[in-house]
Amino acid sequence: GRLSLSLVRDVEDCPCYYVAQIQDITEQHAIDRMKNEFISIVSHELRTPLTAIRGFLGLLDTGIYDNKPDKAKHMITQALTNSDRLVRLVNDILELERQSSGRVQWVMEVCQAATLINQAIAGMQSIADEALINLVVSSATGSVWAAPDAMIQTLTNLLSNAIKFSPPHSIITLSAQPHLNHVLFQVKDQGRGIPDDKLEMIFERFQQVDVSDARQKGGTGLGLAICQSIIHQHGGKIWVESHIGVGSTFYFTIPSSPSSL
Ligand code: ADP
Repeated sequence: GRLSLSLVRDVEDCPCYYVAQIQDITEQHAIDRMKNEFISIVSHELRTPLTAIRGFLGLLDTGIYDNKPDKAKHMITQALTNSDRLVRLVNDILELERQSSGRVQWVMEVCQAATLINQAIAGMQSIADEALINLVVSSATGSVWAAPDAMIQTLTNLLSNAIKFSPPHSIITLSAQPHLNHVLFQVKDQGRGIPDDKLEMIFERFQQVDVSDARQKGGTGLGLAICQSIIHQHGGKIWVESHIGVGSTFYFTIPSSPSSL
């Protein structure tokens, strides 16, 4: 730690007391390290699709594909795919920054769990239909003290993951049940599952179970970090239980009333 003293004088400029300030430097260093690490990960994540786009455009620019429209079209498609990924990354990074900086002023209200679940499902129904996955609500009772948009975003992220990592013709079950002073939400899938040693890590930014999850599934590795930030700011908890090849269940709790925060 670092101790600093400042002398405080009264209106007649006579010394009257000292103010002692102790700053914990180790904590400050840890924050600086985390920031540096975050910046290096972000730069790496952004550079990958950007380098790919640059590469495809560079090839097109040489003119070697001028007489090969099929090849040229393929290069353009690749450049577009990578641009989309870049946009998703930038959006997710900004969203996470916004959430975790504490700058977001949540407008809290009493929300019916059933309404939140139904709205999240409505937004994801067409994607689920396309993947031939059935979305089922097993129970949805109780109400929470929360910002509805933040709740719908959390449920949407969890649903989106469940759909991404589940086979066709499988079922995703959503539920919300009141317990004492909170509501327990569950999003349960019959997907590929998550290895035990990754169950905590996946809530950290840019962490994915498989390196191919970014490329093949289009993920950024930021979805769960955003969910966790939202849930913690609402005074709740989020965790996952999973069995390889059987499926995963994501759980989160949200207080039912402001007094229980
Ligand atoms: P993204 O989905 O964009 O990659 P997330 O932070 O939402 O990022 O998820 C991080 C990782 O956790 C995923 O890449 C995947 O490896 C794993 N994961 C998340 N949800 C599930 C799920 N329902 N089933 C299996 N794996 C999952």
